[in-house]
Amino acid sequence: MASQDRRTAGEVDLTAEELSSLVIHPHEEAVTKLAKVAKTPSSGFGVFATQDIPKGALIAVELAVLSIPQVPDEEAAIEFCKALHQISKANLDRLQSLSLDPLAWGSVSQENVRSRLWQWCQDNLATNQSGQRMSHHELSKLVDHTCRCYGIFLTNNLETGSGSGRGVYPFFSRMNHSCRPDIYEFFDTKTKELSLRAIHDIKAGDQIHSTYVDLLQPRKKRQKTLEAWGFTCQCSACTNPAFDALGERAVELDDMLEEYLFYHDDFSSDTDDDHEPFLKGPDEALGVAQELIQLLKDQGLYGEALYHTYWSASKLGVEVDDLELALGYARDAREIEVCCVGPDRRLSDDDTIEWISYLESQIEHAKEGSSLTAKMAHQEYDPSSP
Ligand SMILES: [Zn+2]
Repeated sequence: MASQDRRTAGEVDLTAEELSSLVIHPHEEAVTKLAKVAKTPSSGFGVFATQDIPKGALIAVELAVLSIPQVPDEEAAIEFCKALHQISKANLDRLQSLSLDPLAWGSVSQENVRSRLWQWCQDNLATNQSGQRMSHHELSKLVDHTCRCYGIFLTNNLETGSGSGRGVYPFFSRMNHSCRPDIYEFFDTKTKELSLRAIHDIKAGDQIHSTYVDLLQPRKKRQKTLEAWGFTCQCSACTNPAFDALGERAVELDDMLEEYLFYHDDFSSDTDDDHEPFLKGPDEALGVAQELIQLLKDQGLYGEALYHTYWSASKLGVEVDDLELALGYARDAREIEVCCVGPDRRLSDDDTIEWISYLESQIEHAKEGSSLTAKMAHQEYDPSSP
């Protein structure tokens, strides 16, 4: 999971005047014109919209200032040393401008981690090109610097998924958490770019939040997970008790739907499992999917969960022989997909465009078939027909 420089959500937004007085870091200028990093009243940092940002807009595209490949945890420190040794001065400055979390610092200061970093520095950096060895004091200073940078890396790194390792994205790192995020972050494994898109309209001056946790969880579970970052979330979903019941019901519906779809797929491949899913048929499952869609929208959750639920509803629409309904949900899924990742990428392995054209052609065939049947029936029963 991403470990980021994030603080409490629910902090106030900036006025237009406050926004215009902010200075943009050159790095921010390069990644976005739509938002900037600013101090929040609690003296942490946050990202704020500098203009109205429409739903689906690409807010920022960022490359990692430092990244390491996918390795077991115990090898991460060494991979980090190798990457740090090759970092540019500008990227080192950006890395060092980020915060160092006390928990991350605690884990770096552990004797085994520090001694691993020391060993690597001694083996690889302690002798210069003309064969001169560093003094113990110089080496110690170098190890201190490496430890501090590693702590910053652990505080701010993002797991980019699909075996592509971890990286630090300074702009993204400055975004605070909310259980009602404003953006969807997407890592492109080919270009190595992290793209951030608005998942709903954002007003100039509003703070822009991402999320650190799985949002389809009850509030208590989310807050338990967020303890790792050392804050209690103050977002609207966490402070308005009305959202608790909605959130719990959404989790319940999601579980039922997931179970139904799982066993349904299994049954079609002739499993011996005698487990009966809770939902008895596609009609019931479709009803659950529709209730879940409404609940997610009511809670302002326009990300992956809604996308997947639209997909489920579309497949169930086919099962209940309502192709028009299935097509409607497929188009809804596509709209969320475009909003989250843009028109040229996919949000999952499923190909939404292909699915939409399949459904369109099925509907076309059904229409042709029914008009043919009607025509034949007409010919059959029309007494004036030859
Ligand atoms: Zn929250």
